[in-house]
Amino acid sequence: MGANRVIEVQGLRKSFGKFKALNGLDLSVEQGQVHGFLGPNGAGKSTTIRVLLGLLKADGGTARVLGGDPWKDVVELHRRLAYVPGDVSLWPGMSGGEAIDLLGSLRGGLNEARRAELIERFELDPTKRGRQYSKGNRQKVAIVAALASDAELLILDEPTSGLDPLMENVFQEVIGEAKARGTSVLLSSHILAEVETLADRLSIIRDGSVVETGTLADLRGHARTAIHAVLDRAPERAALATLHEVRLEAAHSSGVRLEATADADRIGDAMLLLAPYGIASLTVEPPSLESLFLRLYETDRDDDAGGGDGASGGGGERQKRGELGGDAAASR
Ligand code: ADP
Ligand code: MG
Repeated sequence: MGANRVIEVQGLRKSFGKFKALNGLDLSVEQGQVHGFLGPNGAGKSTTIRVLLGLLKADGGTARVLGGDPWKDVVELHRRLAYVPGDVSLWPGMSGGEAIDLLGSLRGGLNEARRAELIERFELDPTKRGRQYSKGNRQKVAIVAALASDAELLILDEPTSGLDPLMENVFQEVIGEAKARGTSVLLSSHILAEVETLADRLSIIRDGSVVETGTLADLRGHARTAIHAVLDRAPERAALATLHEVRLEAAHSSGVRLEATADADRIGDAMLLLAPYGIASLTVEPPSLESLFLRLYETDRDDDAGGGDGASGGGGERQKRGELGGDAAASR
């Protein structure tokens, strides 16, 4: 294991009955980085995280957390890491403040100044009892407890699922500050926008294995650039072999409207290809991560033979928000 990796998972397998929830999953998180763990509902994010927390024993593969074995070294590791689940349960009769302190005591106490500041910024009333809190407020209790500790590693499983957009912003700031203190973070989500701004690296999980991993720039490099052009003369389809998802139609005034996508590293080729047909107008849109994710999730149903890029399918609103549908999981 590399000395600078806080999480190192190789070939992880876990079945529930006959169903393979994790199917040879690889994941590594570098020290001091925020690592986005992105995938639709049912992809296996929480199962992976439960293995990392020593709550679940894997059937195969290896997992190392902070250099230790999450199953055997559970006591020591939980002093050094903090966990926020997507649906926080609290002790019904205990106040939020007491719960924060109890959770904090597991990690050798809290930074008092930071505790007070976080309660203020998240607008949390710490005097209410657990049973009186909404889902979002229970979530805030767990977030404050985790962030007020000096945990080396934060494992956050869809931590903002109950928060409103304003609090989501506070959360983003606070994670940025934790990163600046040198904390490592594994942040799972099914919503791209939630991890896009924070994550140094991303791993995309689908059906129990990681299908893509890298920096945002790496992933963008794999995504396709959209080209919209008006040409003076219609090209032969065969001349456009470098392009994908080509659509040609008569332009309003004169000439031919072309819509297509190109691999990010083939834009120059694409321009050379189009130039002989007389480029009357041209727009090139940088690749969006969303289009890449949609493509990754589409490959089962559509072998990507220049077919739909997903954006033409249903669920447009969801796609605009960068939310990954559960379709891939539902279709297994
Ligand atoms: P995610 O967190 O990405 O939404 P999960 O890891 O919770 O996904 O679940 C992955 C798959 O494993 C889902 O199909 C889920 O129904 C199944 N699963 C998870 N936990 C159990 C369990 N304890 N028993 C049976 N199936 C489970
Ligand atoms: Mg989950």
